[in-house]
Amino acid sequence: MLRCIIRLAETRANPLDPIYMQVFDSSTLPRALKRQDLYCDLAIAGGGISGVCAAISAARAGIKVVLVQDRPVLGGNASSEVRLWILGASSHLGNNNRWARESGIIGEILVENMHNNPEGNPVLVDALLLDLVLRESNITLLLNTAIDQVSKDAERISSMRGFCPQNSTEYVISAPLFCDASGDGILGFLSGAAFRMGAEKKEEFDEGLAPPPEYGELLGHSLYFYSRDTGRPVQFSAPAFALDDITKIPRFRKFNTQDNGCKLWWLEYGGRIDTVHDTETIKMELWKIVYGIWDYIKNSGNFPEAETMTLEWVGMIPGKRESRRFEGDYMLTQRDIVEQRQHPDFVSYGGWAIDLHRADGVYSEQSACNQYHAKAVYGIPYRCMYSRNINNLFLAGRIISASHVAFGSTRVMATCGHNGQAVGIAAAMCIKEGILPRALARGDALALLQRELVRKGQYIPGYRLEDEDDIARAARLVPTSEYALSALPADGPLLPLEYPIAQMLPLQAGKVPAVTLQVSAKKDSELTLSLRISTKADTHTPEIILSERKVSLHKGENSIYVDFDANLEKAQYAFVCLHANADVAVKSSLILVSGLTLTHHKFNPAVAVSACQQAPEGSGVDSFEFWCPARRPAAQNLAFTLSRPVRVFSASNLTNGLQRPIAQPNAWVAALEDERPTLMLCWKEARCPRKIVLVFDNDLDHPMESVLMGHPEHDMPFCVQQYRVLDGTGRVLVSESGNHHSLREHSLPEGLSCKSLLVELTRPAPNVPASLFEVRVYE
Ligand SMILES: Cc1cc2nc3c(=O)[nH]c(=O)nc-3n(C[C@H](O)[C@H](O)[C@H](O)COP(=O)(O)OP(=O)(O)OC[C@H]3O[C@@H](n4cnc5c(N)ncnc54)[C@H](O)[C@@H]3O)c2cc1C
Repeated sequence: MLRCIIRLAETRANPLDPIYMQVFDSSTLPRALKRQDLYCDLAIAGGGISGVCAAISAARAGIKVVLVQDRPVLGGNASSEVRLWILGASSHLGNNNRWARESGIIGEILVENMHNNPEGNPVLVDALLLDLVLRESNITLLLNTAIDQVSKDAERISSMRGFCPQNSTEYVISAPLFCDASGDGILGFLSGAAFRMGAEKKEEFDEGLAPPPEYGELLGHSLYFYSRDTGRPVQFSAPAFALDDITKIPRFRKFNTQDNGCKLWWLEYGGRIDTVHDTETIKMELWKIVYGIWDYIKNSGNFPEAETMTLEWVGMIPGKRESRRFEGDYMLTQRDIVEQRQHPDFVSYGGWAIDLHRADGVYSEQSACNQYHAKAVYGIPYRCMYSRNINNLFLAGRIISASHVAFGSTRVMATCGHNGQAVGIAAAMCIKEGILPRALARGDALALLQRELVRKGQYIPGYRLEDEDDIARAARLVPTSEYALSALPADGPLLPLEYPIAQMLPLQAGKVPAVTLQVSAKKDSELTLSLRISTKADTHTPEIILSERKVSLHKGENSIYVDFDANLEKAQYAFVCLHANADVAVKSSLILVSGLTLTHHKFNPAVAVSACQQAPEGSGVDSFEFWCPARRPAAQNLAFTLSRPVRVFSASNLTNGLQRPIAQPNAWVAALEDERPTLMLCWKEARCPRKIVLVFDNDLDHPMESVLMGHPEHDMPFCVQQYRVLDGTGRVLVSESGNHHSLREHSLPEGLSCKSLLVELTRPAPNVPASLFEVRVYE
C-alpha cells in the first residue's frame, strides 16, 4: 500500500499537482520510509564552510556532488544558527601575516558577502551560501538530512545513508569518493577511520603547548545571544532553569551590555565531557548560563542601560569547537606551524594563532583562552586531508589530520574553507584519473593538483605557478605605464606617534634609498628611526634591525632626510620604523598602492595580550613584536620621498607565477596619472586564445569578517571595477563594470585568432592607481 502512494506521488507530472485521497488500512506488515537512491562522484557529509567550499570547487571542476547537511541552512558555525564570523590567516588584522586573507572559493564568499552585506547580517550569509550552492548544476543539495549509516566494501565506503524528517525520506548515496566535513566526523567514525579525541602528550610531537590535565584536553561548545535596544522599558523574568548565582561565572564583573554574538566567544562549556555525545547536555547548560547572564544584566540593577533592551535571539544549537580529529598520512603539529616547516605537498595554508581554551570554559577562574601566533603563515600538506585507513575518504574542516595543538590554529573557518577547496579539486582529479586520494600525494599527480589549485585562486606558501599552458608567458607585455615609487604626497592627516609605526617598502637587493618624511613636533625633540627586515624574505615580522638613526626636530614642521646607509641582500619588504614620541606626528598620504602599507606596533586585544608576544618558557613558540596595519578605511601610507624611485611594479610581475604580495608586491601597477592603462600582450605568431584569466587586488589584508563586525565599504578600493579585453583589431571581447572579485575568468569568442590582446583597465579612484596581479591566457 505504501509503495502505491509513492508511485502515485512520483508519477505526477507536476509535484504540485494534488494527490487524491487514499485510505490506508491498519497493517501488520512493517512499513518502510520512502527511499531515494542517489549516485554521484563525490558525496559530502556536512554543509559547513568546509563542505560548501569542497562541494563548489568539485562541482566547478566538473564532477557530480551530493552535499548533505543536517541543518536547514548551510554554513555550520558561520550560519545564522550559530553566528560565528569567518576568520582565517589575517586574524582580525592582529598578527604579522600580511596580505594573508584566503582566496579561491572562500575568498569569493567573503568578497561577495562584503559587497552585499557589509553590515554582517547573519541571515544574508545563509542566503549567500545557499545561492552559491544552488547555482552549481553539479550539486544535489539535501538540507535537513542527517547521515547516520555507512556501507563499506573492504576499506572503502560504498554508500552513506541519510534521513530527512522534513520529507520523511531516506537517502542512500553511493559514490566512489566521500568527504567528511561534518565537524564531528560522522563518516569517518562510522567507517572505522583512525581518529583521536583529546590532546596528545608533549612528547609525542615535541609540542610545548600540549596542555596539562588541569588546563584540559578539549575545547568546549559555545552558544551566543543578540540583544537589542527597543527604546522603551522592557521587563524580563528569567525561566526557572536559568543560572541564579551569577558569581559561579568568574567573569561576571566584566559583563558588558554591548557584547553580542561572537564577542561572547567565552560563553563556553563542555571541554571536560564528551563533546560528541554530551552535546545536548552541554547545550542545556549553555542555555542556563545565557538566561542567567541576561537575568543578571536585566534585573541586578548594575546595568541601568539595559532597561530598554530585549533579548532578540539566542542560539538554538551550540557552536562546536572540537571533538574528533582524524588521522591522515601526516599529522600537522605545533612545530610545523611555529617554524613554518616545509613539506612538498602543501595545498593550503593557515595563519590563525594556536588558540587553545581552558576546558572549564565559563566556569574557569583563569583567562578563557591562550593565543600564540607564528611569525608567518604556514603550509598545510595534502596528506592531512584524507584518512590514512579508509581509502576513499577525504577529510575537511576541523577534523583534518592535526594534533590538538595544531588544530588550535587550523580550526578557523577561512582555513577550513581553503582546505575544502583543495579537497574538492583533488576529488575531481581522482575521478578524472580513476585514482584514490592517496595517489595524488606525490610526484606528477601532486604537481598537477597544486597547479590546478593555484589556477583556481588557491594560495600555497612557497609555490610559484609554472603553467606551460599559459600563453601569456610567451607574450611580450607592453603596458602604457608602470608605477615608479618615488614619492607619496603629504595629503593625508597627521598621525601622532603614540606608538611606533612602520612604512613597509618593497625594495630590491642593493642599497636602501634614503627617505624624506614630513613630521610635526609640539616642541624641540628627537625622533628615532630604524630600518628593519624579516629573517625570511617572504615573511613580514620585522625582527632584524639593519640600522638606526636619531633625528633632531625643532618645534613646528620638519622635513627629515634619513639615509640608513644599509644594503639588502635580497628583494624583500623593509620596514621604515618611526619610534613612539608623544610630541611628534607624521604626515600621511591618501594614495593607496597595491602592495604598500603602513603598520603599527600595537596589538589587537581580540587576538593578543600585548604588542610583543611573550613566549612562556618551554612553550616552543616565538617571542616577537606585532606590526599590523590599521583596519579599513584608516589603513594608509606615510607621505615620503625616496632618494631614487623603486621600480617593483612592472608588467613582468603579471607572469611571475605569484598572485599576491609576498616578498614583493607581485603586481603590475600603472602610473597614478594613467586613468585607462592598457596592457598589450603580443605574440610573434597568431594564436587562438580561448580563455583569459585576470587576478585583481582585493586588499588581502582586510579580514572581511562575515558577521557582526560590519565594514565601512562594499568593495575594496584597490579592485579594478571596470575593464575590457580587446583583440588586435579593436574588437571588444570582454567588457566588465562593477567588478569586485579578484579572480575573473572569461571565455573568448570561438574561432578567435590574433597576434595581440589588449587588457584595458580603469583606474579605481583618483588616489588609487590601477593594478593587476596576474594575467593568464589559454588556447
Ligand atoms: C564558539 C566558537 C567560536 C569560534 N570562533 C571562530 C571564529 O571567530 N572564526 C572562525 O573562523 N572560526 C571560529 N571557530 C571555529 C570554527 O567555527 C569551526 O572550527 C569550524 O566551523 C569548523 O568547520 P567545519 O566545516 O568542520 O564544521 P561546522 O562549521 O561545524 O560544519 C559542519 C556541518 O556539518 C553538519 N553535520 C554534522 N553532522 C552531520 C551529519 N551526521 N549529517 C549531515 N550533516 C552533519 C553540522 O550541522 C554542521 O552544519 C569557533 C568555534 C566555536 C564553536
